Amino acid sequence: MTSAEAATVHDVVIIGSGPAGYTAAIYLARAQLKPLLFEGAVTAGGALMNTTEVENFPGFIDGIMGPELMTNMREQSERFGTTFITDDVTQVELDGDVRVIHTGSSGTHYAKAVVLAMGSGYRELGLPDEKRLSGRGVSWCATCDGFFFRNRTIAVVGGGDSAMEEATFLTRFADKVYVIIRTETLRASKIMVERAQNDPKIEFIWNSQVSAIHGEDSLTSVTLTDTVTGDTRPLEIQGLFIAIGHDPRSELVRGVVTCDESGYVVATHGTRTNIDGVFACGDLVDHTYRQAITAAGSGCAAALDAERWLAAH
Ligand code: NDP
Repeated sequence: MTSAEAATVHDVVIIGSGPAGYTAAIYLARAQLKPLLFEGAVTAGGALMNTTEVENFPGFIDGIMGPELMTNMREQSERFGTTFITDDVTQVELDGDVRVIHTGSSGTHYAKAVVLAMGSGYRELGLPDEKRLSGRGVSWCATCDGFFFRNRTIAVVGGGDSAMEEATFLTRFADKVYVIIRTETLRASKIMVERAQNDPKIEFIWNSQVSAIHGEDSLTSVTLTDTVTGDTRPLEIQGLFIAIGHDPRSELVRGVVTCDESGYVVATHGTRTNIDGVFACGDLVDHTYRQAITAAGSGCAAALDAERWLAAH
């Protein structure tokens, strides 16, 4: 992009490239508003880039791979005139008629309206050695790292759909997969639980929390604490996959737009934030559903809200 192009004031920019951002882009591009979409330097495509098969996105009878779904959405929005910037937005100034978007290495951009669609990020256990052993046995992405655990013993932490999906996927590589759940209940859907429970390589460990992670150069074991009795015991594993949910990626706009106590951007009357002309959608605003299809639907709503707002201004 040339400096002259960068100095133009775009009708609308979209920050974020999951199902919400891409769907907003499809609608805004078809409304001939030539959206500019910031898709992130390394995380373009959002969380679905790290999933395997998506079986519940309507329209795909036999399911579709997460990365393929996102690539399709991106290309669909490009076909109608979306421009992509593969860079991270580092700072935003959203007050005033012209909003200012600063990026890591692609300069400063300007827009009349902004759609926030930054999604959510992996939650961490918060243990001292978690980061240190990340990429050395500790992982947040089975599809990225599963291959490295051929014939190994590994564990997945969490009781939601992500954990069930990761555990089932990891049986392709590992000899044994423990699923560590801190309570006696699962959040995951019945079909995913049944699939995991019927797999002979998977063993559930209930009422247990990973309280320490051990290993010099790579993971060798974890300490499990029984959440009922407080007893501890070691569990020897070479891989630990953490699948305990996500937090909204709202750091960029904290203190700029209103967020709730959990960090979700507050959207009222559809997708409107507290700043006129700034809209928010997808996992960034969604405490409850957090599905690809609900994120896409909310991206559509944000685009329609932005389009109407631009027409009125
Ligand atoms: P969820 O919030 O559904 O589940 C998080 C799990 O992690 C819960 O079991 C929770 O336990 C546990 N947990 C949270 N924090 C900790 C912690 N500090 N230590 C130990 N355990 C912890 O998150 P998911 O990522 O699984 O799913 C998010 C959404 O995405 C859901 O709506 C899900 O349906 C959807 N999804 C759909 C898929 C599909 O259909 N193919 C695949 C993956 C996700 P507790 O219950 O005790 O809080």
